[in-house]
Amino acid sequence: MTPRTSSTESAEIPLALYIHWPFCRAKCPYCDFNSHVAQEIDHARFAAAYQREMAHMAAHYGAGRTLVSVFLGGGTPSLMPPSLVAGILEDADRYFGFSGNVEITAEANPTSSEAAMFAGFRAAGVNRISLGVQSLRDAGLGFLGREHSAADARTAITAARRHFSRASIDLIYARRDQTLADWQAELYEALDLGLTHMSLYQLTIEQGTIFHTRSRRGERLIPHDDLAAEMYEATNDIMAGAGLPAYEISNHAASGEACRHNLVYWRAQDWIGIGPGAHGRLTVPGGRLGLATRRSPAAWLDSVEADGHAIDIVSEDDHDATIAECLMMGMRLSEGVPLASMDTRFGRRAVWLNEAAMARYIESDMLEIEGGNLRATPAGRLLLDGILADLSPAG
Ligand code: SF4
Repeated sequence: MTPRTSSTESAEIPLALYIHWPFCRAKCPYCDFNSHVAQEIDHARFAAAYQREMAHMAAHYGAGRTLVSVFLGGGTPSLMPPSLVAGILEDADRYFGFSGNVEITAEANPTSSEAAMFAGFRAAGVNRISLGVQSLRDAGLGFLGREHSAADARTAITAARRHFSRASIDLIYARRDQTLADWQAELYEALDLGLTHMSLYQLTIEQGTIFHTRSRRGERLIPHDDLAAEMYEATNDIMAGAGLPAYEISNHAASGEACRHNLVYWRAQDWIGIGPGAHGRLTVPGGRLGLATRRSPAAWLDSVEADGHAIDIVSEDDHDATIAECLMMGMRLSEGVPLASMDTRFGRRAVWLNEAAMARYIESDMLEIEGGNLRATPAGRLLLDGILADLSPAG
């Protein structure tokens, strides 16, 4: 694999760094992430490997670019020793540099031992925490196979707010036996916690998970589609009414509190991934480069120690695929896609947009132009896949 230096034009595009920590205490039955349960973890070996792979990525893909965001995801990054987090962030600053107001997020689980790590994470440089609360009901947490209780979650949220100026929680709804009224009550309780960002996901059954196996055996784990859709609509109404409207399909925030790291993904900007199974996307002349590292923690360690990196997939998208990515990701956002900067990125509008189709959808109130951005209306959001196909110049 010959490393490619990203283009000088990409120096204008924000760059983020994703760090994957692949270990968890237990495997949740709904989870299809690259997460593993290990009896022993050689932290010193991982620390050295993160440093080597970061040095490689910075030299080959990050020249002259500073980071707008770092995201420690997993797995369960809150199981990392704070000294390991501090070392990774020092390396990120050394190899890339941080832009002003850099956002540094760590995902955390709300067990008491992990909450005890918050001070160490804050001292290491983390300035935003994303807590995998998932439910404020013990029965819901039991169903989801989580290790914490609802009381643990509330304690961890209080601790998180004490240590971090920005804290978010994840909740999962549309769980088996959950009624619309149950979910509404749980959501109002979550809002009472005073957070400014929440990620609210409908439970889905993913291939390769324990829930998938149980579901194939005939067990009912999610409600019927109509109830799930009602829950989704109620979620949007309640959150908008509380001043945390959806800025993306599942993400809700007060003004100015959107997760900047995830905005990099949805705006199809650039990011580098470090760690087992981490992905990166970079703008290069003529398209986008996709990178993925080896998924298995042991194989990743071996490759980094042998070669300085564990990249095992490199793909290059041409202009058409890049346009499709920009539209598909950008239209998930309530802000939509910025017409002028898309014109600049792709040369001229006819290259990336079927304007006749856009006009038809604006006429039928499925799309609108607001503040120079093309975006879906609430009605259009429900039909987004078909609209996106028509918006493509080839559509
Ligand atoms: S804690 Fe998170 S990453 Fe780990 S198994 Fe559960 S859902 Fe997956």
